[in-house]
Amino acid sequence: MAVNADVMTFPLFINGKWEQSGNQEFFDVFNPANGEVAARVAKGTKEDVDKAVTAAREAFDHSDWKMMKPKERSNVLHSLARQIIANAEELAYLESISSGGTIRRIGSNDILQMADLFQTLANFVLQYPFSETLPSPPFPGPAHNFIWREPIGVCAAITPWNMPMLIACWKIAPALAMGNTVVIKPASYTPLSTLKLAEILSAELPDGVLNVVTGSGSEVGEALVSHPKVDKIAFTGSTEVGRKIMALAAGTIKHTTLELGGKSPNIILEDAELDIAIPGSLFGVFLHSGQLCESGTRLFVPDHLHDIIVEKLVQLASKLKPGNPLDSRTDMGPVISKKQKESILAYIEEGKREGARLVCGGKEWSVPGCEGGHFIEPTIFTDVTNDMKIAQEEIFGPVLTVIRYSSVDEAIKMANDTIYGLAAGVWTKDVNKAYKAARELQAGVVWINDWHMLRNDAPFGGYKQSGIGREMGKHSLDAYTQLKHVHTSMVPEIEHKSWYGLLFSETDEG
Ligand code: NAP
Ligand code: MG
Repeated sequence: MAVNADVMTFPLFINGKWEQSGNQEFFDVFNPANGEVAARVAKGTKEDVDKAVTAAREAFDHSDWKMMKPKERSNVLHSLARQIIANAEELAYLESISSGGTIRRIGSNDILQMADLFQTLANFVLQYPFSETLPSPPFPGPAHNFIWREPIGVCAAITPWNMPMLIACWKIAPALAMGNTVVIKPASYTPLSTLKLAEILSAELPDGVLNVVTGSGSEVGEALVSHPKVDKIAFTGSTEVGRKIMALAAGTIKHTTLELGGKSPNIILEDAELDIAIPGSLFGVFLHSGQLCESGTRLFVPDHLHDIIVEKLVQLASKLKPGNPLDSRTDMGPVISKKQKESILAYIEEGKREGARLVCGGKEWSVPGCEGGHFIEPTIFTDVTNDMKIAQEEIFGPVLTVIRYSSVDEAIKMANDTIYGLAAGVWTKDVNKAYKAARELQAGVVWINDWHMLRNDAPFGGYKQSGIGREMGKHSLDAYTQLKHVHTSMVPEIEHKSWYGLLFSETDEG
């Protein structure tokens, strides 16, 4: 297949170097802001997965990587953070032209979050209980006992297209911090920044420790999650694919963590400071054009404040500026693809059909200078009931559903009436009401008077069908280690090993 010399091309990244895929084929990666080809990327195969897993296995089994002392490993993690900052501009550019995320967000938030995650884990590694000594047991006899925390082995990471680089780091950083090796398969819409990231980070790592295989979920993804030499899977994506991956992982009983979808409830209480709650709720749902798993897509408002809240939401949403994500003045970029745009527009039609009232947006957004891009206006529905499809299914686009409530108990009940449980939020001036709601909301994170406030030292993950396990924080390190109990007997004389009598009725005293 001929490759246009003007278009960037990316091979696979295996064993510390760029490698052509076995079939020498490529696929196109499009810029969602203009619909043009942004790059061509190697179309990996099952054989390429095997090659990458073999490199990762070799690096795990036969290098000093897994035995590195915590201080040394901490230094490596700090140097990875520095590499991210040193290459910030190129990484942010590649991320923006493929994911459609604004350069303002990626450059000023994601890149810093990524570097900070490596630094945060570098500090945790120094305090991590890699080896704990237990007290000598009174029974059955004296012994030395350790609990060791050891790396799991080869970790397969599979990531989505919305924030590909940041989410890749949520998996790569703790895996490396604990001495594992990694094979990552990025989403086919957005593999560019992950490939570049792997090249940059690998300058500080032994060959084979970090590998990238690009290609389809059905071929590369499935080959990876069912490969017998992979020990752990860390997946972020839809609940639907998460279910499939969990089933595939069962074949070889792999450690599995899943970060899945959400339909997060956001409750404005009647005493809330509306001047913060209203812009905050729009920030919660329209950042990255609604393509964040923890977006606050269901807004619960008190009956008597409904009209005033909706009026202000619409006023403010109408001021958001679409544009080229590379322009730092752009508030909202495109959605990821034509297919995603069509799926969002179909949900909007479904909302109208179900009887919800469209009060803002609802159409494709035409953006001068970005013809061919996939933009959708910030969209707000009122008269939504919690059982409607637009209130229950993850739309993954800029669509807010507003639901009335008459009592806080009713709001919490509706908030929890979903298969998901990723995030939730409540706006109030009353700290007692805030904590009561936070206790009752079934979600892995609850924001009070704010949204999107993830921290690198706090765990993130889902309740219910939003996932299994947690990323970030010191808790994430546990997901990349396995526990070993080591017992050393301090009883050298057979006659004092009375517990052998559980088997032998007589001992040979002669
Ligand atoms: P997706 O369709 O589930 O895909 C996610 C990843 O899985 C992609 O790399 C995809 O590859 C791969 N994949 C697809 N089918 C597979 C299979 N059968 N076996 C193995 N891998 C397979 O999700 P998406 O559309 O990229 O992203 C949006 C979803 O991610 C939303 O549901 C969102 O809520 C969720 N998300 C969750 C979090 C969180 O932290 N909880 C964060 C961000 C996003 P291809 O791209 O090649 O299809
Ligand atoms: Mg998908």
